[in-house]
Amino acid sequence: MNCNFDTTRIHSGYQAGDHFDSATPVIYPSVAYWLESFERGNQISEGKIPGFSYARVSNPTTGFLEKRLSAIDGAAEAVGVGSGMAAFTYTMLNLAEGGGKIIAPYDLYGGSFDSLRTLLPQFGITTTFVEDINDLQHIESLIDQDTKAIFTETVSNPNTYVADLPALSDLAHRHGIPLVVDNTLPTPYLIQPLKHGADIVFYSATKGLSGQGNAIGGLVTSGDQFNWANGKFPQFTTPEFILSEAAGGKPVSFWEAYGSLAFIKRVRMKYLRLMGAVLSPVNAYFQLMGIETISERVGKQSSSAKKIAAYLSTNPQVTRVNYQGLPGSPQADLIRRLLPKGVGGVLSFDLQGGREQVAKVINQVKLFKYLVNIGDSRSLIVDPISTTHRELTPEVRQLLGITGSTIRLSIGLEDPQDLIADLDQAIKASALPA
Ligand SMILES: *Cc1c(COP(=O)(O)O)cnc(C)c1O
Repeated sequence: MNCNFDTTRIHSGYQAGDHFDSATPVIYPSVAYWLESFERGNQISEGKIPGFSYARVSNPTTGFLEKRLSAIDGAAEAVGVGSGMAAFTYTMLNLAEGGGKIIAPYDLYGGSFDSLRTLLPQFGITTTFVEDINDLQHIESLIDQDTKAIFTETVSNPNTYVADLPALSDLAHRHGIPLVVDNTLPTPYLIQPLKHGADIVFYSATKGLSGQGNAIGGLVTSGDQFNWANGKFPQFTTPEFILSEAAGGKPVSFWEAYGSLAFIKRVRMKYLRLMGAVLSPVNAYFQLMGIETISERVGKQSSSAKKIAAYLSTNPQVTRVNYQGLPGSPQADLIRRLLPKGVGGVLSFDLQGGREQVAKVINQVKLFKYLVNIGDSRSLIVDPISTTHRELTPEVRQLLGITGSTIRLSIGLEDPQDLIADLDQAIKASALPA
């Protein structure tokens, strides 16, 4: 049955009747799975029939999550991994291993930025960073025959800058490269990037997807439109020993075996299997539970964040509010098209009293918790330059306007009026003498 989002997030990926009628998804801790007979064992190993063999490659509980996320994200297939950074790393390596260029904005999660800038170059993968991911002309001028992907976050953290996914995907596809998106902030509830032209999407499931700050994890999802055999990605067209020769057959490539699913199959069969950042089935269970309430949580967080941003923009101590979801935002048209339900629960603002006042506000708030997570049921506060964004170089911080005066908030599920009152008392108490 083809259902809408709110139904799919509850019912997809798991059938109680197949698991002793357990209403909630079952946690399968087993490391290895009974192959039963010589014949069945061989067929499972060759991928000829569905089945599990060893939990580094796949696990039933993680499988429920992969199916449920695929369903709500409009994906052909998903792979669960141990963290959002594992999802990022496997995606980038699978795209550009052995050498290649990525085009990405500076405006990225600190870990992704640090990896693209300092670690992935050690593996032959270099990144050209751009100031504005929506500057299509500039991006087009940077694409050459070594370029393997355009990569962006849908909604950036902490500036909430929205990427024009349909325009970027048209541009990427004209040059035979995929659009790769980190959709952690908005989650599939606010936007499903594959439906707007993205080819590969990944998530930190640690954040809004599971939503209670209790289970680290990540997921990579794929559509089924991109042509991985267009000559730019030899890793998908090279014959692969494990796919057939191991069983005595004729050598085939990931593309020959799986067509447009070559990318996502290879994430599992090469990267997850050989590099091993496995998602624990217990964490997959927490994430499945979280997804069952995603609409109510992310919807409320987004609407509360809008109220809080509106309050902050009237506070005389606040010199700037970064929340593209406010009416009159320069991105209002784009947001109406791509994110009609809102831009999410993360926002940032600057205080006129600089770092000194930031420190006082952080020590003065009563409800906001000082910790480096987002998308939690609790409201959270951080100073990005000393925590989540310390990887940004001073020049990049300046470019993005993330300074010592900046505070980032992740809005939780409390009453927004209580949150406004908390911020208001903290900002008043921290005001420096005029
Ligand atoms: C947190 C985060 C990540 C990394 O996820 P982990 O689960 O912490 O590894 C990647 N991208 C974004 C946008 C994030 O917020």
